[in-house]
Amino acid sequence: MEKTIKIYEGKAKIVFETVAPDLLIQYFKDDATAFDATKKGTIKDKGIMNNKISSRLFQILEKEGIPTHFVKILNEREMLIKRVVIIPVEVTIRNIVAGGMSRALGLEEGLKLDCPVLEYHLKNDSLHDPLINEYHIKALKIASLTEIETIKNYSFKVNEILTRFFSSINLDLIDFKLEFGRFKDEEIILADEISPDTCRLWEKTTGKRLDKDRFRRDLGNIEEAYQEVLRRVSK
Ligand code: 5GP
Repeated sequence: MEKTIKIYEGKAKIVFETVAPDLLIQYFKDDATAFDATKKGTIKDKGIMNNKISSRLFQILEKEGIPTHFVKILNEREMLIKRVVIIPVEVTIRNIVAGGMSRALGLEEGLKLDCPVLEYHLKNDSLHDPLINEYHIKALKIASLTEIETIKNYSFKVNEILTRFFSSINLDLIDFKLEFGRFKDEEIILADEISPDTCRLWEKTTGKRLDKDRFRRDLGNIEEAYQEVLRRVSK
């Protein structure tokens, strides 16, 4: 499948059209940003690792009944995906307190939550992705009530599947961010990527962070951490 026109370039990915109207190519870059793109850098081969990690995780989710935009991996940096209209809401699920929740509520990182916490954030860098709730989503016609229910159900199911999977490779899934889209104007499917850029993954036995926090917080050994996640998810 050949790329034709570039239709979108984001912080970590580029999306191209193909000759097939419903299929796009998602290209993974090495660029890394944090704090609403005020911190910028590159992580060597991140695009290659995230393409492979994401592909594997999408395959696992599809097998468990979660519809995703993933069609197939094409090469080191590209996957073929279904064309969706992205719903401009980031869905975050948290199992253990870290990052934004720790800062917002003054809680210690590492505190285990009694049940998973789901948050919605409006996708808008200039507004710093503000926290919103289901009423905002409905009132602003971002998505319908039925779509919100579908997104919520899929998100909790993704959490169950991925928590179990990561646990089997000695990683705790602390939190993660998902994005959904409308395929052919009707079906809600999981889109974007699932990778150490979008998940916090801590090694169970040591607590070592194997995710983008190594870049955000200048912890060093960033490439090694992504390689380690890739090695484990590929087993
Ligand atoms: P927090 O709100 O604590 O910063 O992020 C919660 C989780 O969602 C983390 O795993 C983080 O990686 C992911 N996340 C939230 N917003 C974004 C975003 O804009 N980009 C990326 N790559 N991940 C995000």
